[in-house]
Amino acid sequence: MTYLTVPISGKNLQSCKEQIGSAVRAGAEMLELRTDYIESLNIDKLKELIAYTEQTSLPVIVTCRDSAQGGQNNLSADLRKQILIEAVKLGADLIDCEFANFLKDDFGNDIKKTLAGNKKTRLILSEHNFKEPFENLAEIYEEMYSVFPEAIAKTAYQANHINDCFAAFDIMHEYGGKAIAICMGPAGIISRIITKKLGAFLTFASTEANTQTAPGQLTIEKMKKLYRYDTINKETEIFGVIADPVGHSISPQVHNACFATGNMNKVYLPLWVAGGQMDFNSFLDNVTTRKWLDFKGFSVTIPHKVNALEYAQKKGEYIEPVAIQIGAVNTLVIRDNERITGYNTDYAGAMDALTQVMGISKKQLKGKSIAVLGAGGVARAIVAGLADVGAKITIYNRTMEKARGLAGEFKCHFAQADEIQGSDAEIIINCTSIGMYPKTDVSPLPTKCLNASQTIFDTVYNPLETLLLKQAKQAGAKTVNGAEMFINQAAEQFKMFTQCDCPMEVIRKAVLNALTSKI
Ligand code: NAP
Repeated sequence: MTYLTVPISGKNLQSCKEQIGSAVRAGAEMLELRTDYIESLNIDKLKELIAYTEQTSLPVIVTCRDSAQGGQNNLSADLRKQILIEAVKLGADLIDCEFANFLKDDFGNDIKKTLAGNKKTRLILSEHNFKEPFENLAEIYEEMYSVFPEAIAKTAYQANHINDCFAAFDIMHEYGGKAIAICMGPAGIISRIITKKLGAFLTFASTEANTQTAPGQLTIEKMKKLYRYDTINKETEIFGVIADPVGHSISPQVHNACFATGNMNKVYLPLWVAGGQMDFNSFLDNVTTRKWLDFKGFSVTIPHKVNALEYAQKKGEYIEPVAIQIGAVNTLVIRDNERITGYNTDYAGAMDALTQVMGISKKQLKGKSIAVLGAGGVARAIVAGLADVGAKITIYNRTMEKARGLAGEFKCHFAQADEIQGSDAEIIINCTSIGMYPKTDVSPLPTKCLNASQTIFDTVYNPLETLLLKQAKQAGAKTVNGAEMFINQAAEQFKMFTQCDCPMEVIRKAVLNALTSKI
């Protein structure tokens, strides 16, 4: 069992008790009493707090952290030792002692003696680095076990890049329930969930965002509701969105909601892969060389879509031909034979959104005159899809060079952005960011260009109804919003990840909820 542990960090007994109450209500499985947070700490306060925790029936760790390793209130070594010894005598389930202090004769020996006389209490030996990963992580664990074989060995270090997490995963894979390995900071967030899959002794969570005791700690609510912590086990397959930055991504909400509906033993995580091609390659190499992590698929977004294509190409993996034409991969699937396959669901998502609203098949787009506004990444994916079915495309863009280049590749017409005013296209697709939050009072098209015979598709999804779409509706045109494209591309990904049909109502609700909560 991996205990979902809530650190209790009140400055006084009253606030500790309140935090304990919140932790129990939130579903904590273990409490860590960070006694170093308590002002004017003494043995009586410890006794009262431990007695209070007995009402909860949850196992308790008593910690009195040294300020050299992130402790509060600069407590003396003598008081810290007394607190730990007393906690053992009071029957605490575990105490956490810094390894460096445990090695000191006048500290460690007294604790060892007390533990020997009180078999109920287990020892956690810990070491922290709030700046960077440990260079010799494996050696630290070996040393801890050699000094005290029954110990649960713990490290917590700052992950400065997601690739720093893999050393901790190796430790948890090797030692399971005898180890704790926490990667702190935003780059280490995934370690807090993956810990459970790897069966480590515990993972920490806070009850509120403001009661975090370490950077990157997630709230217990997020762990349970978003990442379905309670369902994670050894067999859980891992998926995620690779992006930089990744915090704004709604994909974890969307894919986890679909996995939950199908009771699937899968979890979808935000994967913050900072940097360029090399960092991206290292991340995928780290994942693919550790089959036991069960990473099975990725959504890939800014800035890694081209990196994903190049990675798969260099490895000689299968890439869907349209994705090669588009020059970008937004979906990677790791097959059971460990081969990676690359796809682009952006174009399919856009085509589905458009044809569903128009009530036609993709083939029926053949010969239709379509104006595409923009020549960036999204325009490229949509033009590739439209060219594939034989639509009559004209690309309009502010920067003519880009329009010319894209039109040349896909053999279509191009013009300066302003010239769209003279267009008689049946379908107009906005692939620029004009109208996107926060500049929501602008539209890429004057209202005089809009009429009831058109279909207007705005790929912008924040806001859900852009000014362009509002004006198009007023003119009587059919409208397609960017959220529909997002929903359809995510549904395609879901099918590739799971080989199952996507629960469309669930995905639609999840996307709309996630988008409206962001706006
Ligand atoms: P991108 O590669 O940066 O391309 C941006 C395009 O917008 C370029 O053609 C650029 O013209 C044009 N543009 C930007 N600001 C402009 C302005 N003020 N006036 C005229 N043209 C302007 O971006 P992208 O990845 O293609 O994304 C474009 C939009 O698609 C995003 O803003 C997003 O809202 C939307 N999107 C939707 C989905 C979905 O699933 N619905 C997914 C991804 C993106 P220049 O070439 O002249 O710079």
